[in-house]
Amino acid sequence: MTLVRTSLFWKLGLTYLVLLFVVLASVDFCAGRILRQNYIRAANEHLSSLGRLAKYRPAPLDDPTALASWASWLSRSGARVTVIAADGRVLADSAHDIETMENHSNRPEFLEAMSAGEGESVRHSHTLDRDLVYLAMRFDRRGQSAVIIRFATPLAQINSALRGVRRSLWEVSFVILLLGIAISLFLSRRFTNRVGRLQEFSRRVAGGDFRPLPQERGNDELGDLARTLNDTASRLSATVRSLTEERNRSAAILRSMVEGIAVVDARERVTFRNEAFAKIWDAGSVGIEDKPAVEVIRQPDILKLVRQALSGGEVLHGEVSSGIAQPRNFSVTVAPIPPFNGVAPGSKMQQQAEPFGAVVVLHEITDLRRLEQVRKDFVANVSHELRTPLTAIQGFAETLLSGALEDKENNRRFIEIIGSHAMRLSHLTDDLLKLSRIEAGKLDTDFQPVDLKALIEAVVESARNTATQKQLLLTDASVPQNVPRILGDASLLREVLRNLLDNAIQYTPLGGRIDVELAASEGFAVVTVGDTGIGIPQSDQSRIFERFYRVDAARSREVRGTGLGLAIAKHIVEAHGGQIWVESAVGRGSKFRFSVPVAA
Ligand code: ADP
Repeated sequence: MTLVRTSLFWKLGLTYLVLLFVVLASVDFCAGRILRQNYIRAANEHLSSLGRLAKYRPAPLDDPTALASWASWLSRSGARVTVIAADGRVLADSAHDIETMENHSNRPEFLEAMSAGEGESVRHSHTLDRDLVYLAMRFDRRGQSAVIIRFATPLAQINSALRGVRRSLWEVSFVILLLGIAISLFLSRRFTNRVGRLQEFSRRVAGGDFRPLPQERGNDELGDLARTLNDTASRLSATVRSLTEERNRSAAILRSMVEGIAVVDARERVTFRNEAFAKIWDAGSVGIEDKPAVEVIRQPDILKLVRQALSGGEVLHGEVSSGIAQPRNFSVTVAPIPPFNGVAPGSKMQQQAEPFGAVVVLHEITDLRRLEQVRKDFVANVSHELRTPLTAIQGFAETLLSGALEDKENNRRFIEIIGSHAMRLSHLTDDLLKLSRIEAGKLDTDFQPVDLKALIEAVVESARNTATQKQLLLTDASVPQNVPRILGDASLLREVLRNLLDNAIQYTPLGGRIDVELAASEGFAVVTVGDTGIGIPQSDQSRIFERFYRVDAARSREVRGTGLGLAIAKHIVEAHGGQIWVESAVGRGSKFRFSVPVAA
């Protein structure tokens, strides 16, 4: 800062000084010349007027005394008067004794006057030893040789006049010089201050502070520069703001995406990954980082795709699964990031350049794959379920046709078997229809206040017969004093309870016991159907609510099960806003419970 100021000051100051000296020297030179010329011209005029006077009163050349007094008379005008004979002899001189004066025939003004009639010269006088302006005139005499009358006036005056002019010139110049130094100091300080402010401003802008410069007053180039810089800064600020917003928006989008996203650079290092990605590989940190891809991704298939994308520059797709206990499936897309080096996006040059990274997108498709599997299983299950009764019906019908119709002992039994299988088919198709309607969201629900006590008692009563036949003890339903009031579809709830009771009866061996209970708990009415039956292994408990799922398929089919009852029950309970679950131990029995929210 000080350096700049000093150097600028000296630069400006020295320039002023040199300029001033050049101007002064020229003024001095020119003024001197002009003054001298003017003075000489004036002196010449003065001398020639003396010459004219001399013509009026011609010199008494024949009388040396009269000539001397004539010369001194003329010299009263301030000029020196010399009368010189044609041979150069001095006949009279107003300023000097002629006896001691040398011959003047070699004087330039004398020579010029002799030849041209009049001669001028400005030179040093040897006689008087000073500078003089000379004017010599030739006076011709009839019959006699011409005589030269020379007038001279000293140059000393002009020299002193010139000195005066010069002194005042230099005095004024000195004042101007001081003024110049003060002005240049002031200007350079003002200038360097303004430059300093601009420097400070650009440093600030480089540091990310885009506040504008205070208004620059100057209407000069620096003022323009300040305004341009302000404009640039405000445009930069807007650009930075929009870039920051854009980055925040992108970061927010990436963060909230369920897809796992990671960016791998050309050195195969992960430079970014979002939360979803980190969660997939249970790795802690998210955001910007710089770790080897092998450490972060730990999936050879994905790493292979990344390498291919980095070298081939094409978008690649694949599918991977992770986890052993609970495998998860992911569809992988690896897209190379085209290099950005000023080359237009999408241009041929850019396509040919090596990609500088790749984006890995992991999309979880576990549910999709599971649903596909469920659908496949469903088709297989339905065909399987249908085949058994159909094969039986077909077999017995053929047996009857091939003679057994006449067999009085068995024909009725065979037809009954056909009937029971047809019944099973009908159950199956009924359940399937119901299930598909529920799953398609076409369940007709008519929510009304439901008298749970009456509903439970009626279902228990209707099951009592079957239970008794199986020598099971079906106790009366235990219902609390304050029966929770609920809103629901009575016929659907009845179906759920009937299904649970049917199951309890079916899967409880002779002599067992079945209890039905209603209770209120935390805003829900909870119905429990407990039995002392065969129980359900822990591993199957979470799956028995799936379609067609049976703990022991062979046994369950024996006992008329379709494997759809609990799936239907689950849908119905959930449609009421409740839940269904089981607590069971093999060989000790099961407790099926479902809850329905209590009406407000
Ligand atoms: P199903 O028509 O075969 O009874 P469900 O969907 O009602 O079909 O039941 C699914 C499976 O759950 C049954 O096959 C059976 O293995 C098991 N299950 C259901 N209720 C009981 C119970 N009370 N005790 C033991 N196992 C049961």
